[in-house]
Amino acid sequence: MLRRNAWVLALLCVVTLMACAEDVLAPLPTAALVAPTIPPSPSVVTPSHPLPTVTLSPRPSATPVATTDVPIVTFDLVLSGGTLIDGTGGPPLSNAVVAIRGDRIAAVGPAGTIPIAPGTPTRDLGGKTVLPGFINAHAHTSMLSDQALKVWTRAGITTVRDLSGPRDAIIARRNALAASADATLPRLLVAGPMVTVPGGHPIPIYGLSDSVLTVQGPDDARTKITALLDAGVDVIKIAVSGRSDVDWPELSNEEIGAITATARARDVPIAAHVDRAVALRRAVENGITDAAHMPRDRMSDELIALMVERDVALVPTIAVYEALAEERGDAAAWRRTTLPVMQSNLRRFVEAGGRLALGDDFGNPRVDLGMPWAEIDHWLDAGLAPMQIIVAATHGGAVVCNLEDQLGTIEPGKLADILVVDGDPLADIRVLERVAFVVRGGEVIPGEE
Ligand SMILES: [Zn+2]
Repeated sequence: MLRRNAWVLALLCVVTLMACAEDVLAPLPTAALVAPTIPPSPSVVTPSHPLPTVTLSPRPSATPVATTDVPIVTFDLVLSGGTLIDGTGGPPLSNAVVAIRGDRIAAVGPAGTIPIAPGTPTRDLGGKTVLPGFINAHAHTSMLSDQALKVWTRAGITTVRDLSGPRDAIIARRNALAASADATLPRLLVAGPMVTVPGGHPIPIYGLSDSVLTVQGPDDARTKITALLDAGVDVIKIAVSGRSDVDWPELSNEEIGAITATARARDVPIAAHVDRAVALRRAVENGITDAAHMPRDRMSDELIALMVERDVALVPTIAVYEALAEERGDAAAWRRTTLPVMQSNLRRFVEAGGRLALGDDFGNPRVDLGMPWAEIDHWLDAGLAPMQIIVAATHGGAVVCNLEDQLGTIEPGKLADILVVDGDPLADIRVLERVAFVVRGGEVIPGEE
């Protein structure tokens, strides 16, 4: 009951607060899929892509090999006999062993290739599938209690990227979660306030608040972005709308360029709210690292090629447009006119080798906590395969969070964030609902409380 009350509160906040100041209103178009290994383009105006930031503990030593003269290595937990989908997009490995030491994955391989000391805690995962913890690359969490955040973790989403909230409060929340001994809490990455111009999106919708930061001119932009970076944000979120049906001011190319150069110099990624392809193009040309929405109009093949060349990822959030259309009462028209455009954008982006990440813009009305099924269903309808969706939700998310060296795949040295499901999600992605257990930072999280 307590819990139910907390939910009602959280929902109220979602609707009334501005947690999501960002995207509401504009239906955005679609995007592309994840190709795990697209190198950054050296010819981009801005510094090269991989933007490592987060400092986590050092990686442990390498995978042990099964030879007679190698001593048996001790592990804290061994997952044995399941099918491994490691997040890279490579073929699944059946009868796999994943060995964990501390908060890290220590060894991965076929059964029988990793010597395991007698008495090592082991879980037999016959019939189950082992995947990296999923990443929600676009959400708003300020209104959620810790208890509510656990809904994500229990669904297998071990990392959540919050794309706008009050700077100091959300950084403090992130730090508190990171310091908590409770592994049932997800990792949080935060942008702090969304950066825009006076009167720009999302101000006409939500008004001014501490979740919005306005800049005027490139010098002001550099100063304010530097202050955000100094405060410790994990990502910069900017608003570039592109809407022609309203008369809102927008960040200039010079301002976008100043923001992205300042962030890239500190290896911090830049996500852009975009509403139309024209805005997406300006944002890409001026140095963003990912688009937080699909534009709602057609992305040209040239724009898609530019994104692939510069390795600018796409977090489509198609479902939030649908949710907002339902909220407005014109979902039928949206499905008839806008959805096909977004699905075409998504298909063509994926076919071109674009990098996708999964996010749902939680915080908006009618967006459910947990696995973003509404979004996944749109991707399936667009023709994506379960493996493409899984790679987007794992490796793709890690790349847009600039945590590719820590998360997103099951490989020795990475953080042990793992989702185990009962069945084969490649045969039926709904198997992802059948969560056997989740591991976060090497700890098996307890069941429903
Ligand atoms: Zn958002």
